[in-house]
Amino acid sequence: MSRPPRRAWVPGSRIVGEPERPVPPEGAPLVGVLALQGDVYEHLNALARCGAHASRVRSVADLARVEALVIPGGESTTIGKLLGLFDMMEPLRERVRAGMPVFGTCAGMILLSDRLDQDFDQPVIGGLDVTTRRNAFGNQQASFEADLDVSGLDGGPVHAVFIRAPWIVETGPGVEVLASVDGHPVIVRQGSILAAAFHPELTDDDRLHAAFVAAAVEAGAGGR
Ligand code: GLN
Repeated sequence: MSRPPRRAWVPGSRIVGEPERPVPPEGAPLVGVLALQGDVYEHLNALARCGAHASRVRSVADLARVEALVIPGGESTTIGKLLGLFDMMEPLRERVRAGMPVFGTCAGMILLSDRLDQDFDQPVIGGLDVTTRRNAFGNQQASFEADLDVSGLDGGPVHAVFIRAPWIVETGPGVEVLASVDGHPVIVRQGSILAAAFHPELTDDDRLHAAFVAAAVEAGAGGR
């Protein structure tokens, strides 16, 4: 069967068409990007630049195939609702509990948090023993960029883009804080879970994605 024609990619556009990505090397780990809402395309590109086979995850079947998963920034309430609507919440929680390497950025970090510092409930995946405050730095106008020293990452500070970003209010004993802004943790790691309050996919500094892919390979992903 012939493939349907691809839509043209409009330079500068971030949402239409399929990106031109490097062909993954043989045995590359299969890393998914949860693609229900948020900035999926930029993560797929960053992962591909890091030598992963990157694919969108939109269903339980997609989830079952991937060896690691990025949960992108976007709107955590929307992504949480859609996970429920597509019956993906429980299977995803199970994969996270079972130790699948997962990298949550911004809304993704919120969704991976066990607790949120707010007076209403919203569905989260959990797994990360932290309390997170949404929109902690302020509203859209309070979005900012900053250079972060990241513990364990060579090559100097990471230029980080914060968009209606959360910060972590409290961390449990198993959580390592890798970077902070004004004393507020913004990159944390707990076992196979990595989370960042900002958008590493919006710059061309791929070191966090590379570290995540390397950790996934270390945990046994790839080589198939
Ligand atoms: N403020 C958003 C939320 O609460 C997160 C913003 C983002 O992912 N850039 O989900």
